[in-house]
Amino acid sequence: MNSCYRLVAALLLFALAGTSLADTTLIHAGELLAVPGKSPSTRQTIVVVDDRIVDIVDGFSQAVDFDGNVHVIDLGDKFVLPGLMDMHVHLQGELGPKNDRDALRMSDQLMQMRSIFFAMNTLRAGFTTVRDVGSSPQEMYAMRDAINMGWIDGPRIIAAGGVGITGGHADISGVAPDLMDLYTSPNVCDGPFDCRRAARNVIKYGADLVKITSTGGVMTDRATGTGQQMEMDELKEVVLAAARMGRKVASHAHHEDGIVAALEAGVASIEHGSYTGPRAIKLFRETGAYLVPTLLAGKTVANMALEADFMSAAVKEKAIRVGNDMAGSFERAHKAGVNIAYGTDSGISPHGTNAEEAVLMVAAGMDEMDVIIAATINAADLIDMSDDIGTIEAGKFADIIAVDDSPLDNIDQLLDVSFVMKGGKIYKD
Ligand SMILES: [Zn+2]
Repeated sequence: MNSCYRLVAALLLFALAGTSLADTTLIHAGELLAVPGKSPSTRQTIVVVDDRIVDIVDGFSQAVDFDGNVHVIDLGDKFVLPGLMDMHVHLQGELGPKNDRDALRMSDQLMQMRSIFFAMNTLRAGFTTVRDVGSSPQEMYAMRDAINMGWIDGPRIIAAGGVGITGGHADISGVAPDLMDLYTSPNVCDGPFDCRRAARNVIKYGADLVKITSTGGVMTDRATGTGQQMEMDELKEVVLAAARMGRKVASHAHHEDGIVAALEAGVASIEHGSYTGPRAIKLFRETGAYLVPTLLAGKTVANMALEADFMSAAVKEKAIRVGNDMAGSFERAHKAGVNIAYGTDSGISPHGTNAEEAVLMVAAGMDEMDVIIAATINAADLIDMSDDIGTIEAGKFADIIAVDDSPLDNIDQLLDVSFVMKGGKIYKD
C-alpha cells in the first residue's frame, strides 16, 4: 500500500513538473571566457534554462525577446568564466592547531555539519565541482547525494573511497593502539588479493573513484618516509578491480619510485607528485595521466611546521622537506608537457582559499590561461564529465562564475570571485 501511494505521488509531481513554464536566465557578460584556451569575447549573453546553458548570443539580449519567466543578471562590467574545479580536497577537516584531533572530540553529526559549512565556503569561492579524495566515506557520499538531490547547498562532489596498506599513509597511526584498532578502516589491505577485495568494497559502498597511496605521506604520524610503500602487485590489482567496475584510480605519491609504479599500474592521476623526475615524466606523457600538484598543501605544511607546535617530530621533518620541493617538481613536469589538473589538498589549507593554488602555479611558471584550463577543461576530463561541465557552451550545466577583471592578466582576480552560479542556481551575487 505504502509503495502504491508513493508511486501515485511521484506520477503527480511528474505531471505538474511537465506543465510548469521553464525558468530562463539571461546573463550579460562584459567579457566571457566561454572555452578556456580560446580568446575571451566581449558583450555576450549566456542563456540559461533551468540548470543548463542553452545558447550564447552576441550582445546583451533583453527579457522581452524570450517567453516565460525571464530573469536578467547584469555582469556587464565583469569577467565571466566557467566554474572552477578542485580535484583534491578533504571537506571533512581543516588542519591547524585549532582543529588538532577534533575527530576525537566532535560527534560524527557535528563533523558532518561542519563539512557542509566547508563545502559552502568552497562553492562560494567559485569552485563549483570538487573531488573529495579522503574523508569518512559514508559521510562524504551522503553529502554528495544530498547536494545532488538539492536538499543542501554545496559544490558537485566526486567522492573517493580509500584503499591503503597496513601502516601506510591511508592507515591510522600516531595514537594509542586501542584507538588504532577502533579507527582502522576495513579497506586497509595487504597483498594483491586483499587489495582487490578492498577496491571492490569501496565501490560497493558508494565510491566514485578509488584513492590509493602508493608512497608514504607527510601527515602520517610515523617516520616511515615518503617513498614507495604499495607493491606493484597491489597497485595493479586495485586498478584492475576498479576498471572492471568503471572506476578510475587516483594515487597519492611523493617520491618518484611510487609515482612510476602507480603510473605503470595505470592510475588516472597522481596527487602531489612532489618528486617528479625524468622517468615519471616519460610515463605521464605516455599514459596521459594527470598530475594534481597541490602546491598549496606543500606551502601550508612547510609554514605550519615552522610556526605551529601541534605537529610531531616525524611529521615536521617531512613537511619541511616535501613542502619545499613540490613547486620545483611541478615546474619541471609542466615544462615537460605533463597534463595538469588543478588540486589544492584543501583541508590542509582552509576551505575557500582554493584559488591560492592558482597564484602558486603562476609563480611556478605556468601561464594564467593554462591554470584556468587545468581548473576547468582538464579537471572535467579527469572525472569524465566533459559533456556536462568545464566550459560555458550550449548543453552544459550552468556552472558560471565572475570576477572584476581578467584573471588572464592578473591571476589574483580568482581570489575574489563576486558571482557564483551552479546548475543555474545563484550562490553568490
Ligand atoms: Zn590529500
